Amino acid sequence: MSLFKSLLNFLYPPRCPFCDRVLASDGLGDGVAMWKDGNPMELPICDRCVQELPWLKRSCIYCGHSLQGEEIKCLRCSGSSFSFEECCVLGRYEGKIRETLLRFKYRGQKSLAEPLGKLLYSKLALLSWASSIDFLVPVPLYPERFKLRGYNQASLLAGAVGKELGLPVIEALGRVRDTKSQTGLNKKQRAENLRGAFKCIEQIKKESHVLLIDDVLTSGSTAQEASLVLKKEGASRVSVAALAR
Ligand SMILES: [Zn+2]
Ligand SMILES: [Zn+2]
Repeated sequence: MSLFKSLLNFLYPPRCPFCDRVLASDGLGDGVAMWKDGNPMELPICDRCVQELPWLKRSCIYCGHSLQGEEIKCLRCSGSSFSFEECCVLGRYEGKIRETLLRFKYRGQKSLAEPLGKLLYSKLALLSWASSIDFLVPVPLYPERFKLRGYNQASLLAGAVGKELGLPVIEALGRVRDTKSQTGLNKKQRAENLRGAFKCIEQIKKESHVLLIDDVLTSGSTAQEASLVLKKEGASRVSVAALAR
């Protein structure tokens, strides 16, 4: 650790992003096996939150729903078709996970991108499909919202995950129009609300494998619509990663 980093850690000791408990001086938990037994990876999160928060250890490859058995998709997704190939979701959008994501998204706590990105990377690193990803694309905000908020949390998160993966982030998608809040809409209405909401604003490499990044995956309509646009532009595979669902 550099002297500068040591000093910084002394002045501002790293804290768990979920409960604010001070972590060890290197900013990591105690090296816990979070996703898979026998594969310890040091994470920037306290051991109590590793144990207590609703992490999704086995979940449907399309919607992130928790699974019990050996299957890879849930019953609901079995009969549907998707424009993306798979998704990786960290936990359920409730309790401390939800509170933390709200602080990240609405209360200007941009520094949460780094620990949350590391956490998302820790799960991606165990998935075989992650090794063929070419670049990351964040889900964009509508320009007016961006102006109000001053940042796009998905871009910050993509930056942090990209740094860990050693891959570039390309802001390839733009929002053509603002969409109504998805709250209170059913799955069909959500899909309709988002239809035609995105366009490609950067050329992307043909036959590429894209990792689409969002903070929260709700019905999957955003991932579905954004992936469609990326595929039309030449991506051959789109995977999705989000912090919660
Ligand atoms: Zn904690
Ligand atoms: Zn599913």
